[in-house]
Amino acid sequence: MATLTLDPRVSGPTADFVSQRHQMYVDGRFVMAASGSSFPVYNPATGEVITEVPEAEEEDVNRAVLAARHAFDEGPWTRMSPSERGRTIWKLADLLEQHLEEFAEIESLDNGKPRAVARVADVPLAVDMFRYMAGWSTKISGKTLPLSAGRDFHAYTLREPIGVVAQIIPWNFPLLMAAWKLAPALACGCTIVLKLAEQTPLSGLRLAQLIDEAGFPPGVVNVLTGYGEGAGAPLAAHELVDKVAFTGSTEVGKLIVKAAAGNLKKVTLELGGKSPAIVFADAEIDHAIQGTASAIFFNHGQCCCAGSRLYVHEKIFDQVVEGVSHVAGDIRLAPGLDPSCQMGPLVSDEQYRKVVGYIESGVQEGAKIAAGGPVSGFDRGYFVRPTVLTNTNPSMKVVREEIFGPVVCAVPFSDAELEGILKRANDTAYGLAASVWTRNLSLAHKVSRGIRAGTVWVNCHNVFDASLPFGGYKQSGWGREMGEEVLNNYLETKAVTVAL
Ligand code: ADP
Repeated sequence: MATLTLDPRVSGPTADFVSQRHQMYVDGRFVMAASGSSFPVYNPATGEVITEVPEAEEEDVNRAVLAARHAFDEGPWTRMSPSERGRTIWKLADLLEQHLEEFAEIESLDNGKPRAVARVADVPLAVDMFRYMAGWSTKISGKTLPLSAGRDFHAYTLREPIGVVAQIIPWNFPLLMAAWKLAPALACGCTIVLKLAEQTPLSGLRLAQLIDEAGFPPGVVNVLTGYGEGAGAPLAAHELVDKVAFTGSTEVGKLIVKAAAGNLKKVTLELGGKSPAIVFADAEIDHAIQGTASAIFFNHGQCCCAGSRLYVHEKIFDQVVEGVSHVAGDIRLAPGLDPSCQMGPLVSDEQYRKVVGYIESGVQEGAKIAAGGPVSGFDRGYFVRPTVLTNTNPSMKVVREEIFGPVVCAVPFSDAELEGILKRANDTAYGLAASVWTRNLSLAHKVSRGIRAGTVWVNCHNVFDASLPFGGYKQSGWGREMGEEVLNNYLETKAVTVAL
């Protein structure tokens, strides 16, 4: 094992957990990889190795899928009453809440985000998600349907769990993405193999310990750590998996679809975005400045719905760009565990290089830097300063592609007709989210209708709730996460017709 370095600010329970010999969770037991291999986990604030976790490969995927298959086909889980299922999910939420501080710390250490943010956003939202979905366990039902056929029939639908679900998640909200995936699948009565992101496996492994403590029967939830190609790909292709739910890049989403074709397993995808924030001339300007800055800089821009294209009416363009640049300049960059941290490092060296590369390509193509830029001023860690680019044009890479970092392209608009700005906002392969900033109620609703995206925020951005469906139009995905809608991802509908 490599020499491990732990941040001295890490508290006792977190230090104890991080320095454990990490194991995956398969069939109700904590296990090493079949090959015995492991891989390093880095602290993005320093680039140092903090620990190692097992490297799952095909054999481990196989074991986990077989455990989930057995638990679905034979186990007590699918025969459990809905209320008992709900109570177990609720218990997991309680346990998670009891360990809120520890999870916030793990998330900050592993992902780089400010501990204060993980404490008020990531962990509580994950708790809410488990509670919200625990409630759905007892409310999943079919319908009785009147038939127009010539005879007397009694017809109804049953909503049944889809079966064994493979879930593959990214690193931007490691715990929350696990909760978004696990909670609805559990509420529906599915069994699961969850593959954590290789960059951020720690909170998911700690969650596996709580899953065990909550009393889910063996095999209902299996948690693997491993790389995309080594573990994610065989999981997405596995013949005994009924459904794959993926969150990550659009590029990998397309690979998942191909991998799923072998047994035509069902697929849902939550993918990338290039979300517009549109500020009209009548917007409440200070609010719009703060809001659009947070739209892109929250979580260091590592949000699939980040407001990365900022369209501002020309009358207030200079004022808004100056304001957002000011906010950017004031954001304090520091390691996530530093109490003064307002923005931590990006998650990995790879993301750091990618994001800096985008800023440089923008400048090469003629963009101007109004704030930030490619140089962070840090001698270690993956820090990128919040950056505002102007003078862009619609064909530039920085305007078209998802950067997944704290970089916004500000563009003025003057269109007299609403159609003009809608066309520009919709000129993207993505369709995940948008925000509109105006005091004109009618305009706000018209823009909300005209935007081709799964979420529209009015005078706000990045507002999430377990009850709100979230997902993409176009190449931003298939299906929805959260809300009642996500249950469709994990249920089959059976029509039963009885001749009376
Ligand atoms: P990002 O670009 O944000 O790192 P990715 O889409 O590469 O996101 O990764 C998201 C998740 O998908 C991670 O858990 C990763 O390991 C997994 N993954 C990557 N490549 C594949 C693949 N070919 N098949 C299945 N899963 C994959």
